[in-house]
Amino acid sequence: MRVDDIHVDTELSDVARLFYGDDFPRISLEYDGNTFAVELCDKRYFFDYSDAVYGIIPAAHRAGRLSKIAVYDALFAYTGRAMAWGALTGVRPTKLFYECLRFGMDNTAAAETMRKVYRVSDMRSAVLDDIINAQNGKVLFSPEYYNLYVHVPYCTTRCSYCSFVSAPIAKNRAQSQEYVGLLCDEIARSKEFLAQNGKKILSVYIGGGTPSALDDKSFDELLAAIGDLGCEYTCEVGRPDTVTAQKADIMKAHGVTRVCVNPQTLNDKTLAAIGRSHSAADFFRAYDIVRARDFDINCDLIAGLEGETVDDFIKSLDGVRALCPQNITVHSLSKKNGSAIRYEPDENSDVGKMLDHSLTHLDGYRPYYLYRQKRQAGNLENIGFSLSDRECVNNITTMEETVGVMACGAGAISKAIENGNITRFANMRDISLYISRYAEKLDAKLDCFRSAFV
Ligand code: SF4
Repeated sequence: MRVDDIHVDTELSDVARLFYGDDFPRISLEYDGNTFAVELCDKRYFFDYSDAVYGIIPAAHRAGRLSKIAVYDALFAYTGRAMAWGALTGVRPTKLFYECLRFGMDNTAAAETMRKVYRVSDMRSAVLDDIINAQNGKVLFSPEYYNLYVHVPYCTTRCSYCSFVSAPIAKNRAQSQEYVGLLCDEIARSKEFLAQNGKKILSVYIGGGTPSALDDKSFDELLAAIGDLGCEYTCEVGRPDTVTAQKADIMKAHGVTRVCVNPQTLNDKTLAAIGRSHSAADFFRAYDIVRARDFDINCDLIAGLEGETVDDFIKSLDGVRALCPQNITVHSLSKKNGSAIRYEPDENSDVGKMLDHSLTHLDGYRPYYLYRQKRQAGNLENIGFSLSDRECVNNITTMEETVGVMACGAGAISKAIENGNITRFANMRDISLYISRYAEKLDAKLDCFRSAFV
């Protein structure tokens, strides 16, 4: 096999982007069945991967994965730089760890394989080991269960780093009420469909957007349509300025068990700069409201916000840690199309220090799930931390793709997981199109599930 210029190969290009961003040099790769030859900036590197350690890679994926490792090894030799996640560019590194376990390895051997085969750093392979231990007994493989996801695409203002569909609620009140009416219908039809097909709901997650940006009546109507299903039930109330005693009471009345109140940072200057319409004091006020009603609480923080130093991040982490929420999620900033970020977060080398600090200083918490995104600062990851036995089952099963997702709302992506096959269906992303094409798209979604269930 020969690839004259890896720019034409998405997977190999992703490896080069780890080192250079989008502007990477011409790299060619050749494999003669024994040796990989990589040409990079007039240098040629040769690699032989016949060692038994590479036998872990399933035959169907071997050539592809070894090609990525060869490009990584050449870039490492040329630049002298190592990446925390080595040659891995995918969203879910844990899947490869589970692949090793299915191969018959124990955790120690699997962690060693992550280091030796995929060039993952000692620290990140240890994180994978911790996560797999935390997920023990919680990664449910059952076609009988589905997670219900409900999407509310409205917020108070737009954060500078946002790439989601999110409309300002104040300008779209009337539309949001019409939207919620259709969303309630989609939820009812989806629940009925799952029940008719012998499926149970494992957990519920209302995300966005900011669901609590809805007016009280719409919020109540939405939660009533979901109902109290007696399972783990998360509602994002991400913007602290949308959290009121009334909203918290509505959630309690409808069976919500877990809420996400997200400061992102406790630095008021940064909060203003990134376009969030609240202060750190608003966050503490919102936190007290939901804590008083005994919800499990998750708090999101972002590492790598523009202008923030490692000390700023540590202050935010310590401030949240002092509250002892059940879950803390640390995101490393990613610059995506559609966001208004002006700087290059992937060039912020302090983000690695922020993530490493989280991994070593959150006493009493352990990492329980992680995922990576493209163009993420420092090529790092988002990590969810949890107090013992308070892990969010929705996050685990959705991220590990062990339970399917019935998703409702604009831009929501359903996943039918049947017999190991994943079938995806995306709702209309644009809110106006979601409304105008609602009936047609709902039928298409249920048809998609019907075909997957056969
Ligand atoms: S709260 Fe979330 S969805 Fe809303 S604007 Fe900010 S990042 Fe986007």
